[in-house]
Amino acid sequence: MAKRDYYEVLGVSKNATDDELKKAYRKLAKQYHPDANPDNKAEAEAKFKEVNEAYETLSNPQKRQMYDQFGPEGPQGFGGGNPYGNGTYTYSTGFDGFGDFGDLGDIFSSFFGGGFGGRSANRQNGPRKGADLQYDLEISFEESFLGTERYVTINRRETCSTCHGEGTKPGTHPETCTVCHGTGQIKQVQTTILGQMQTMRTCTNCHGTGKVIKEPCETCKGKGTVRNQVRLSVKIPAGVDDNQTIVLRGEGEPGENGGAKGDLYIAVHVKRHRLYTRKGNNVLCDIPITFTQATLGAKIKVPLVDGTEEIYTIPDATQTGTKFVVKGKGFKSLNNMGQGDLIFTVQVQVPKKLSQEQRELLVKLAQTMNEQPPIKKKGIFG
Ligand SMILES: [Zn+2]
Ligand SMILES: [Zn+2]
Repeated sequence: MAKRDYYEVLGVSKNATDDELKKAYRKLAKQYHPDANPDNKAEAEAKFKEVNEAYETLSNPQKRQMYDQFGPEGPQGFGGGNPYGNGTYTYSTGFDGFGDFGDLGDIFSSFFGGGFGGRSANRQNGPRKGADLQYDLEISFEESFLGTERYVTINRRETCSTCHGEGTKPGTHPETCTVCHGTGQIKQVQTTILGQMQTMRTCTNCHGTGKVIKEPCETCKGKGTVRNQVRLSVKIPAGVDDNQTIVLRGEGEPGENGGAKGDLYIAVHVKRHRLYTRKGNNVLCDIPITFTQATLGAKIKVPLVDGTEEIYTIPDATQTGTKFVVKGKGFKSLNNMGQGDLIFTVQVQVPKKLSQEQRELLVKLAQTMNEQPPIKKKGIFG
């Protein structure tokens, strides 16, 4: 099934402000919350997920920019997996964007945290997505033009291979906390003027995890994760522009309590080139020509970014600063919608040195053109 446009899902325009997004999301999340739709829970849940996914993407400026660029299916060949983290829930525990949502925070904790009606204390017990990582990668202009594969070495937390993330000595397993019986929270009953008030607080014995490790794994000291240096291959698609981001899904840090792994964002920085600059998908450059070439017309060699060259015929009487277009020799667009052009600007060079003979020829030329000839040797051409 084709993905629906996220803006359409939320019923907002492409230029919607953060506030408009939040409002639309809030309304729809309430409307489709499975608890509010007991008669058609499955359908409501599907809608609810869709709305959540759309908001998760559009409320993050970086993801929104990517979305506007690549559409709902995401960039092709960008490391596989789902684009924009679709299907990966970011819910109240791992997503600080919900902080100002008030009642919505509770909707999420009750839906995803499992324990309906629970307050904030039970959130620590639920699955949490791992941290996203960022890496800055510098590539050459030619690499951005042709596309390339690069290796990056990152330092990240990974699931401990000794204990498989359990944090316990091999042969032992975490035990259910006897204080909270695995719920991670403890009921407190207080007697007040208004009667008995029941509140929940995080279990201090297990810090809300519901589990206790008696014999910690020696490799990770019971944390379940270790820091590793990892070498990853990154495919850089032809046409990538300066400051664009490539997302490697699931290459961030491990999640907690069964949560999904985080993502790795590769921020691409393209080095300046001595000859070329980029504008949109076009490549711009200056080509020097002699004044006789400019006057009489000529076939000139135009160097292309891929290292080949194009023979281009410029007409006679070409003025300095004139632009010429070599069609289809610019950047490939990332969505495979055509290719830019190479646009070169001719710069007519005035010779700095002339032989006696050349000088005399030019003086004659000038006289035939009724120009004022040079008065002194060190005059115009000096
Ligand atoms: Zn371990
Ligand atoms: Zn406990």
